[in-house]
Amino acid sequence: MNWFNILKLRGDVNISTDHHPMYYETGHPQFKYVAGQYMPEHPRPHLSHSVNVYLGGVRRILEIKYQMEHGRKPTERELEEAVKETIIHEAGHAAHHHIEPDRFTMENMESRTPKDAFEEELIAFTVQYKDRIYEIYQSLSQHPNAAMEAKIFAPAIKWAEKVVPNDYNYRRLFGNKWGMDLVYAARNKVLLLYLQSVKTSSDLGVFTDLTMSQVPKSKKEAVEMFGPKNEEFARSLRLPAVKRSW
Ligand SMILES: [Zn+2]
Repeated sequence: MNWFNILKLRGDVNISTDHHPMYYETGHPQFKYVAGQYMPEHPRPHLSHSVNVYLGGVRRILEIKYQMEHGRKPTERELEEAVKETIIHEAGHAAHHHIEPDRFTMENMESRTPKDAFEEELIAFTVQYKDRIYEIYQSLSQHPNAAMEAKIFAPAIKWAEKVVPNDYNYRRLFGNKWGMDLVYAARNKVLLLYLQSVKTSSDLGVFTDLTMSQVPKSKKEAVEMFGPKNEEFARSLRLPAVKRSW
C-alpha cells in the first residue's frame, strides 16, 4: 500500500497499522472488523477528539467484501480508497460531535439507545457517501450499531437489487464504470430517482416512501415516473416492458 497516495495526516487523524485496541484487550473477533473510530474522550488523552483509523480492520472488511463480490482480494488502490472513506466517515462523526457536544459525553454515551446509535451512523454514512443512497442503506444495514433500526431500508435495498441485479450490464450510462461499481452506481441512481418522485403524506408531514409501495412495475411505468431525461436508464432496468395483467 502506497501511503504517500493518502493525505499525510498528523494529530487529528491517527492511522495505525493494526486492529482496534479492544481486539487485543478482549480477543473478541468483532473488533477485528472495526475500520475507524472517532473518540471525543479517549483513554489515551492525546487521542481524544481524534479520528482513529485501523488499517488491519480496513483490510479485513475489504477482503471479505471483495471475496463476496468479485472472488478476489482488493487491490492496493482499492485499499487506499477505503482508508480515505473511513477517514471521511469518522470525520462525519467528529462534525456531528462538534454541533451536538452534549450528546457525546461519557455519561450520555452509556445511556444511548439503538435509535441514537442509528442516527449517528446515518449522519456519518451520509457524509461518506453523499447521494449514494443504496450504499448508505446497505452500510447501515451491515453496521452492528445500526442494523436493527436500519431494517426500515430493507424494502428499498431489496427492490434496488431486483431491478439492478448483479449481472446488470449497461455501461454506456455510467461512463467507464464496470463490474460492481456499475451496479452500485445504477442502484444509487434508481433509488434516488424513486425517492425523489414518490412522497407519502400524513398528518405529520410529507415523507419519502420507504415502504416502496409505489415502485414502477414495468419499464413503461419507470419511464413515466423518472421522466424523459432518464428514459434510457429506466429502460435498462430489469423490469418487464409493460405491466403484465392476466
Ligand atoms: Zn460510524
